[in-house]
Amino acid sequence: MKEKWIGKKQKNQLTKNLNAKKEYLLQNQELFGKEIFLDITQKSPPFSNQLNTFEKNICNCEKCDLHKSRTNFVFGEGDKNASLLLIGEAPGAQEDLEGRPFVGRSGKLLDKILKAIDRDRFNDTYICNILKCRPPENRNPSLSEVDKCKPYLNHQIKLINPRLIVTLGLVAASTLLGKDSSLKDMRNNIFYYMDYPVIVTYHPAFLLRSPSFKKNAWEDFKRIRDYIKD
Ligand code: SF4
Repeated sequence: MKEKWIGKKQKNQLTKNLNAKKEYLLQNQELFGKEIFLDITQKSPPFSNQLNTFEKNICNCEKCDLHKSRTNFVFGEGDKNASLLLIGEAPGAQEDLEGRPFVGRSGKLLDKILKAIDRDRFNDTYICNILKCRPPENRNPSLSEVDKCKPYLNHQIKLINPRLIVTLGLVAASTLLGKDSSLKDMRNNIFYYMDYPVIVTYHPAFLLRSPSFKKNAWEDFKRIRDYIKD
């Protein structure tokens, strides 16, 4: 067999690649023990099956430009075995500052609504957003940001394994369900995402701006309460 000689530059590149692979394997071992998981769909290390560890895995994500302007990564919070999973579109200014979902005035309203159906955000309920970092000026998430961040949400959903998903606001509903309908048209239906039933309702920030819709929101949350109870 003929020997193949490689140049210094090529050799350096090979050493660099080998070191990167070694570092990856060591990182994996640190996170997941001696078992090696191969996930052919992900270029980055595989996601943990523990919600807390998963958050640590991804909290320094730089997959899209939103990492440059975020103050805090906002993973989500609540009961990791919740039957009800509430999903908004993305963190706002206060969420970005505190690193928690749905805080500030709209968060307080959401807490009141949850209380009215005998829940709170830490009791059989989990709250998160599609994007984990705040888009500047609270603009809508771009398609590419959603594409990059959605695998995190999908894994989060699988780990929580809720009985029902509720999207808050039109942007969250249309982004998650890929529908181009009005919130009014979507509200009274049940959709499915990753085989999980989904009910669509208003974003609490919208209810603060348009209090006359609170009555409709209350109808939605009674339906949500009854759906989970059945
Ligand atoms: S929004 Fe999602 S994909 Fe973009 S940097 Fe944050 S965590 Fe990563």
